[in-house]
Amino acid sequence: MNPLVTPFCRIDPLEMIKDLPVRIDVLRLDLVDPIVSGNKWFKLKYYLDEAVVSGKTLLTFGGAYSNHIVATAAAAKMAGLKSIGIIRGERAPQLSPTLLQAQELGMRFFFQSRNDYREKILPDALLHEKHDLYSIPEGGYGTLGVRGASDILGQAQTEKYTHIISAVGTGTTLAGLAIAATPDQQVIGISVLKNNFSLNAEVDQWLPEDKKNAVTIIHDYHFGGYAKRTVELLQFMNDFYRQTAIPADFVYTGKAFFATMDLARKQFFKPGSRILLLHTGGLQGNRSLPKGTLIFG
Ligand SMILES: *Cc1c(COP(=O)(O)O)cnc(C)c1O
Repeated sequence: MNPLVTPFCRIDPLEMIKDLPVRIDVLRLDLVDPIVSGNKWFKLKYYLDEAVVSGKTLLTFGGAYSNHIVATAAAAKMAGLKSIGIIRGERAPQLSPTLLQAQELGMRFFFQSRNDYREKILPDALLHEKHDLYSIPEGGYGTLGVRGASDILGQAQTEKYTHIISAVGTGTTLAGLAIAATPDQQVIGISVLKNNFSLNAEVDQWLPEDKKNAVTIIHDYHFGGYAKRTVELLQFMNDFYRQTAIPADFVYTGKAFFATMDLARKQFFKPGSRILLLHTGGLQGNRSLPKGTLIFG
């Protein structure tokens, strides 16, 4: 049985923006499960349904600090399936905390050079083992991922919001949100990659015609690119935690939260707007920071 059943999603109001003429609430997807955190839970669930029926070994892909890798390892364990991770880059002498955790959850790893990884070449050592594999694309990208993400908004009272905002990597989550949004809602994605302008078409391919106008992707808050950071971003995350007790990560949610606050201050949103900001979970990236960088951990 697929253990990823409907979680309860809490909404926290942000009190810190009282001086602004908009209201921002945070949808706490980070609380759905301590390990299969956030949007990865939703993106995985329909893949897991299929995998459970097939009884095959789960195969997926990610980096050494990937939220998706650890989420897949945990989901596989809950479902009683074996899991294998193809990890980008050479094996480091010391496994990252993320990989150690995934390993404890039963995942086995094969490390691929960045080139082979990009080309999605499976290692010979894995092919020789002749597993029956059920492959989940990196990050849960794909139709089943979009379908899972389209269940997010239904887990809480979300119709009253004028804007839905999320961090964007592959765009899978954003597409699911747009599909589920009401015709009046604007869905805004904060791209965490630098100048990844193909995202707009990438997201549009999943959407019916009447939803394509509902989506805006903003490319101004990547802080240097994927998994890049600045002192300003880290300071913001600490301040945000001090004021709200909500932890963010510097790869995804930190950038989305920063962007939302900045846009609100710059009057991007009409007065009276009600904004639902997604906490998409996944704090794994923070484990790559030097100790003491963040006041939460
Ligand atoms: C993976 C991830 C995202 C990006 O989701 P996509 O569907 O790939 O756009 C956003 N936030 C967090 C915390 C993530 O782990």
